[in-house]
Amino acid sequence: MFGTMMDNPLSITLIIEHANQIHGEKYVYSLSPDGKIHNYTYSNLYSRTMKLADAITQLGIQQGEVIGTFSSNNHQHLELCFAIPISGSVIHPLNIKLSPVQLSKIIREADDKIIFVDGMIYDKYVNLCNQIEGIYSIVFNLQNSQNELSCEYEKLLTNARDNYTTDIQDENMAMALCYTSGTNGEPKGVLYTHRSMLLHTLAVNQADVFGLTEADVVMPLVPLYHAMGWGLHYAAMFVGADLVLTDPINQHIIDLIAETKVTVAAGVPTLWKKLIPELLKRKNDVPSLQRIIVGGEPMPEDLIEIYEKELNIEIRHAWGMTEMSPTGTFSILKKKHQKLSDEEKYKIKALQGQPIPGVQLRLVDENQCILPNDGICVGEVQVKSPWTANSYFKKGLDDSLTKDGWLRTGDLATINEDGYMKIVDRSKSLIKSGGESISPMELEAALLKHPLVTDSSVVGISDEKWGERPIAVVAISDQDSDDISEILREHLSKDFPKFWIPDKFVIVEKIPKTGLGKTDKVAIRRTLDGVFTK
Ligand code: ADP
Repeated sequence: MFGTMMDNPLSITLIIEHANQIHGEKYVYSLSPDGKIHNYTYSNLYSRTMKLADAITQLGIQQGEVIGTFSSNNHQHLELCFAIPISGSVIHPLNIKLSPVQLSKIIREADDKIIFVDGMIYDKYVNLCNQIEGIYSIVFNLQNSQNELSCEYEKLLTNARDNYTTDIQDENMAMALCYTSGTNGEPKGVLYTHRSMLLHTLAVNQADVFGLTEADVVMPLVPLYHAMGWGLHYAAMFVGADLVLTDPINQHIIDLIAETKVTVAAGVPTLWKKLIPELLKRKNDVPSLQRIIVGGEPMPEDLIEIYEKELNIEIRHAWGMTEMSPTGTFSILKKKHQKLSDEEKYKIKALQGQPIPGVQLRLVDENQCILPNDGICVGEVQVKSPWTANSYFKKGLDDSLTKDGWLRTGDLATINEDGYMKIVDRSKSLIKSGGESISPMELEAALLKHPLVTDSSVVGISDEKWGERPIAVVAISDQDSDDISEILREHLSKDFPKFWIPDKFVIVEKIPKTGLGKTDKVAIRRTLDGVFTK
C-alpha cells in the first residue's frame, strides 16, 4: 500500500525558492575584477538566476545537455550553479588547474555544448581555446569593459524574460557533473541528480555535520569543481546564511573574513596550514570565525591543536569523495568525550569520524568478508547512501560497485567500536615491498612531525629485488641543514621497522599539488620513476 503524501520531486529549485522567499534580504559577497567586494541579496540572485535559466533555454540548450563553467568562486558562478540545473541542463564545473590537454579530454567526454568563462581567468582559458574549437563560450567578469566579450553574459540577462518557471518533473534528472581530482589516476566523472543533491544538502545541514544556521556567514574556500564546493553553497542558502565567495588562492582571505565577519569556513588541510602564521598574528581581526570544516586529505592532530587551542576555532574534520557528493563522515565529539583531556579530544578529531546520518559504511577484507568494528582490523571502506554514485559517467557499471550494491572507495581504514573511521591509506597508494605493505600515509604523518619538515610525500618506486621500495619527497624549512636524509632516517627509525624506512629522501622546494591542493602523486611518480627505478 502506498502512503498518501505529496510526491514533490526533490530538486535544487527548492533551495533557491526558499532562499528567495524566506531569506531574500541575506547577502552574497564576492570579489569584482577591481578587487572590491561586490554584494547583492538572495532576491537579486533569484531574479538574475531565473533570467539566466530562460536565456539558457533560448540559446537552444536541450534538457540533459551539459554546459561547462570555467570560473573562480563568485556570484556569477553561483547563478550558473542554479540556473543551469533549473533549466534542465547539467552544470559541469571545469577544474581550472588542469592542463589544456587534460581539460580538452574531459570536455570532449562530457560533450560540453557551451562554456561560461570567468573573465578574471580568461588568459588561462585562452590556452585551452585552440584545443576545443567549435565550443561557444560566454564570458563574464572581464576587467576591461571595452572588450566586447565582457557584456555578453549581462546582455543575455537583459534580453531574457523574467517569468521563467522551471520544469523539473523527475528528481532523478542529472543536474551536475564533477570529475574526481585524479590524485591516483585519471579523473572520472560523477553525475549528480537533483534528488541526490537535495538529500545531500539536507544531510549536511544537521547540527552535527556542517551545523549551519541563518546567523552564519559561510565562506567555502573550495572550488565548485571539487564536488560542487562540497555542497556548501547549497547548504548555506537553504538555511539562509550569508555567503562569501572567493578562492583558496586569494592572498587576502583573512581581510575578507574580517570584513564580512565570516563565522564558518571550509577548505583542505594544506590551506589551513598555510594560513596559520597570518591567523596567529591577526587573530584579533577575525573574532567572528568560529568553525572550520576541513577534509579532502587527513587533518593532522597538531594542526587541530593550533586551531582549537591557540586560535579558539573549532575544527570539524570530514572525509568524503566526489562519488559521495562528497560527504561521508564527520569527526564530532560525543557527549562522553567531553571529560577527556584536550590531547585525547584532538586525537578523536583527527580520525575521519562517524558516517553522517544516511551514510552506511563497512570494512571488508580481500575475500569480501565483513570485518569487525574493533579499531584494529584494516579493510577496504565500502559505502552506501542516497547521495553516492552507482557508476561513473559514460563508463557504465564497473568493478567499483560490489554485487550487493556498495561502492568500493579504495580507502583502507579501521573503524572503532564507536563507529569512528581512521583512514590508514589508499589501497592504490600502499607500497608492497617484499610482499609486505608499507603505508605512505603513516610515513608522511611521521615526517610532518619533524620540526624541519614542512610537507612530504612518500611513493613506491619499482624495485627489481623487492617489487617496490618507498622514496620520500620532502620539503624542509631550512635548506642548509646538513645531512637531512640521515636526520629523517633516524627520526623514522624510532617508530617504524627497517624495511619501512624510505631508500631515498629527495629534498624539494615544493611538493606538487593537484588542482584541489592535494599532493599530486601521479606527477611525483612520473618525475621519480625515470630517476630511481632499479
Ligand atoms: P581523488 O580520489 O582523485 O583524490 P576526490 O577528491 O574525490 O578525488 O578524493 C577522495 C579521496 O580523498 C578519498 O577516497 C580519500 O582517499 C581522500 N580523502 C578525503 N578526505 C580525507 C580525509 N579527511 N582524510 C584522509 N583522506 C581523505
